[in-house]
Amino acid sequence: MTSVRTRFAPSPTGFLHVGGIRTALFAFLVAKQAKGTFVLRFEDTDKKREVPGSAEHLISSLKAIGIEYDEGPDVGGPFGPYIQSQRLDHYQAWAERLIEQGRAYADPYTSEEMQSFRDEAAAQKRAFRYRDYRPERPPVWDGTQPLRFRSDPKSYTYHDEVMGDITTSPEVVDDFILIKSDGYPTYNFAHIVDDAEMHISHVIRGQEFISSMPNYLALYEALGLERPIFAHLPHIMNEQGNKKLGKRDGAKDVLDYIRDGYLPEAMMSFIATMGWNDGTEQEIFTKQELINSFSLNRVQKSGARFDEKRLLWMNGQFIRELNLDELAGRIEYFWPESAKKHSENYKKEVLKLAQDRLKTFKDLPALTSYFFEEPIPDLSLITENKQLRKLTPAEIVDILQTSRDALMQSDWTAEAIQETLNQLLEQTGQKPGTLFSLVRIATTWAPFSPQLNDTLRLLGQETTLARLQHAIEIQI
Ligand code: GLU
Repeated sequence: MTSVRTRFAPSPTGFLHVGGIRTALFAFLVAKQAKGTFVLRFEDTDKKREVPGSAEHLISSLKAIGIEYDEGPDVGGPFGPYIQSQRLDHYQAWAERLIEQGRAYADPYTSEEMQSFRDEAAAQKRAFRYRDYRPERPPVWDGTQPLRFRSDPKSYTYHDEVMGDITTSPEVVDDFILIKSDGYPTYNFAHIVDDAEMHISHVIRGQEFISSMPNYLALYEALGLERPIFAHLPHIMNEQGNKKLGKRDGAKDVLDYIRDGYLPEAMMSFIATMGWNDGTEQEIFTKQELINSFSLNRVQKSGARFDEKRLLWMNGQFIRELNLDELAGRIEYFWPESAKKHSENYKKEVLKLAQDRLKTFKDLPALTSYFFEEPIPDLSLITENKQLRKLTPAEIVDILQTSRDALMQSDWTAEAIQETLNQLLEQTGQKPGTLFSLVRIATTWAPFSPQLNDTLRLLGQETTLARLQHAIEIQI
């Protein structure tokens, strides 16, 4: 059995969004499941589209999500170089073979001539095909003209691991360009040469390449190459599901998610489950679980919808699962400025209370700053609260005063505080939704907080009483 070798072959033309990285992830999973090899290759033969810095950016994105490649531009490997612009001699050699076999020829036409052919086809209401204008005696190829494939139109049948069995029509096979007049190969030619030389067993890429498959199959045949296994992945659609997700409608750089406090393992699980499931209800997968259970034939054929809310939820689930030390280490950079002067121990206690509420690391300051600095009273928390807005200012002051007096007498353990709070319910005749909310708001001025007794315990008795006093004084 030949070994499984898959590749991710991006063009360095910009950042990677979730769609691009999903292609990389699926190829990675297929390789790792079979204990095979995952290859990174840069397809940089369209020099006009290249964006400086994007090659490094692509590498950082793969690394940030945890998609490790075994061979690639910066790590080398037995079939390098892994950058197409450094492989021009390889394409040249294969092109010459095709010329010798009479399967490639120099394109002699000027762009004006080409335009007139197109206009003629349009006027006759037929699709333009280059092969209808194939020159009888093409000039010798000197590298300044495009080199074209001499096609032999046929119907082909192939199996796609995602899309199923596909039969193509001979109509669409054409004399496409192999090498452009600037000396660089086209994607259509270069990827087939590279996949063959790099012993790629599975070509996993976006569905936009399906329409070119007839030409690719013709070229495999002409070159005498065995076809790899194909898997074309459906597009990722925008949230409404009516349009392909694109950079223009908010598809973000995956590195931005990491910067915003998303966990790489949550990103991986989310990306893998966009359009794939393992046949059960399971939604959250570790990397090892994905390696074990991924399969191309469970990738859905129709476009998967990008749902950022699901990502947020999933990230929260992953954060909950981290043990406290691990979380503390990874969230370090997100603490509010005011936390810096506090002890690691105190921060860890705060983190323990906030952990279940964190959806991303970026939420940390909003959820915890009142543990480190005096909160600024925000009266709308009271005036817009369904229960609290029913109370008069005098009633509010009264409840706060009674609570402060009782808490002053309380022991300061979470249990003792809870007991005091329960007694206060009886004493004031208020509902928990009113009393606890009021005390919580007056001591934190935050829309949410962990359990009240835990919050007060960690704030400390002195701070709790001082904040209640302040709230009374400003007569909320
Ligand atoms: N360079 C192509 C792209 O960025 C890769 C397609 C493939 O994986 O073969 O779309």
